[in-house]
Amino acid sequence: MDFAYGPGKNHLFVPGPTNIPEHVIRAMNRNNENHRTPAITALTKSLLDDITKIFKTTSGTPFLIPTTGTGAWESALTNTLSPGDRIVSFLIGQFSLLWIEQQKQLNFNVDVVESDWGESANLDILESKLASDKTHAIKAICIVHNETTTGVTNDLTKVRKLLDEYRHPALIIVDAVSSIGAIDLRMDEWGIDVVVTSSQKALSLPTGMGIVVASPKAIEASKSAKSLRSFFDWNGYLKFYKTGAYWPYTPSIQMLYGLRAGLDLIFEEGFENVLLRHKRLAKATRLAVEAWGLKNCCQKEEYYSASVTAIVVPPNIDSGEIVSRAWKKYNLSLGVGLNKVAGKVFRIGHVGHLNELQLLGCLAGVEMTLKDVGYPVKLGSGVGAASAYLQNNIPLIPSRI
Ligand code: PLP
Repeated sequence: MDFAYGPGKNHLFVPGPTNIPEHVIRAMNRNNENHRTPAITALTKSLLDDITKIFKTTSGTPFLIPTTGTGAWESALTNTLSPGDRIVSFLIGQFSLLWIEQQKQLNFNVDVVESDWGESANLDILESKLASDKTHAIKAICIVHNETTTGVTNDLTKVRKLLDEYRHPALIIVDAVSSIGAIDLRMDEWGIDVVVTSSQKALSLPTGMGIVVASPKAIEASKSAKSLRSFFDWNGYLKFYKTGAYWPYTPSIQMLYGLRAGLDLIFEEGFENVLLRHKRLAKATRLAVEAWGLKNCCQKEEYYSASVTAIVVPPNIDSGEIVSRAWKKYNLSLGVGLNKVAGKVFRIGHVGHLNELQLLGCLAGVEMTLKDVGYPVKLGSGVGAASAYLQNNIPLIPSRI
């Protein structure tokens, strides 16, 4: 049964997987090719050169891996660490929790720093751990840049500052699965050692490509890291990079062409414009939430996410019912509340290839759904607040000026 069918388009507003642009879909609609031809070699080289631009690094080494964000986590950890290594990991939502579970499964000694869901990573506790770690037993700090469960974006510059203050050599390993391409991340400037993301979020591609970028320090660490790894071993890639053949195994040709088309769209719009667009969509969403009289799950304004907003519903309403009804009645896909916040929040993902009028459609759908489930909302209130802001802030489309 193809439930995807419905008149008009599905309004896809989950925080990943996101909308795939027509341009990318067309670029991917092609036959397989021999991945050992000069054409695919040149395509791969262009992708490796260009992908690092959105991580803002010139010194990092990128790996394009057939996997998802979860595999990209594993690649980052196993290539840089050895079993038993102590790592500090922040628990602020479902994705940081899942990552911590993986870290434990991989036999690292995980020092979990927990915050209430909706709060950012507790860096005061990190500071006290660094201050007492005179022997530099802590080998890595693992942090989710944008916690997709709660719409909280951590300030990575503060982590770097603390490590520098204590002259601590720990690696900084960052999950940027729902931030890269939507929220500014400056790998070189901020001294981040490994950044991981996946294709189905801000890059607006199908799921299936994990992207890992490693700093020179992380590459150095990989030479002595003893964690078992085979498929994810960076060395497999590095050997092929040296020969210019690039691929230790068969890549998805379609995905490579898709990534090329997706990056071209990002650069055509201008990467900084893409980041501004995400900020604009997020701000418009928050204005609507305020107009509805609802609260943001993220507790502090400075941590508001530009890619997802988690909205807290009153205790007499089940947020799952909102998500279910929006899909069944309005062909609108919203994100559910996960784990601790299940039933309590729903999420609007404003990430990837989206524009303002699409967002207004989503906000209209949310308003109607809120009314459906018995929340006293004035129809048009959120859409009005968002459009009043957007009308004054949307620039001309860069390619049409
Ligand atoms: N990290 C974050 C912040 C995520 O939002 C997700 C998925 O939504 C993941 C990791 C896991 O990625 P994947 O589902 O691609 O394995």
